[in-house]
Amino acid sequence: LLILIDMDGVLADFEGHLMQQWRTLYPNTFDLAREERTTFYVTRQFPKEYRDKLFQLMYAQEFFANLPAIPGGREALEEMKALGWEVFLCSSPLYGNRTGASEKFAWVERHLGRDWWGKLILAPDKTVVHGDILIDDRPKIEGAAAPSWEHVIYDQPYNRSANGKRRLTWANWKEVLLGE
Ligand SMILES: [Mg+2]
Repeated sequence: LLILIDMDGVLADFEGHLMQQWRTLYPNTFDLAREERTTFYVTRQFPKEYRDKLFQLMYAQEFFANLPAIPGGREALEEMKALGWEVFLCSSPLYGNRTGASEKFAWVERHLGRDWWGKLILAPDKTVVHGDILIDDRPKIEGAAAPSWEHVIYDQPYNRSANGKRRLTWANWKEVLLGE
């Protein structure tokens, strides 16, 4: 089994870090609880007057390097590897952040170890990457090709409107993928 694992919102806590920075820098302006998130792009739930400030945070140098790890992700990757699966990380760099792509490699080395560095695929279009399964928090993934993988959604409050796809978190991935 060849499995592809997304980074932001799956292994790295993009939104947790973004909102923590927002609250530190702009307290008493606008706030949004994680459970209130309904759209994939967090900026769409921010009032227009605050959106540029929010973009500035995610476009900043070191933003991607400093993302906290989502608990259970590393352990899940190691367990998948132990099952004999071919595991790759598959991430789309955020256009607008000029250092984010290289910071993703640094993040992988720091949080997952040197062995995983060589498993990172940066792909703005994931449909052209081959695999059996792609675990991704984006509700809809489109591109130039008909994907070879099954899209399994990594459950987040902002992707719950997506129906008809298997859905998991690091707490229950074995039940969903192995029926355990
Ligand atoms: Mg993602």
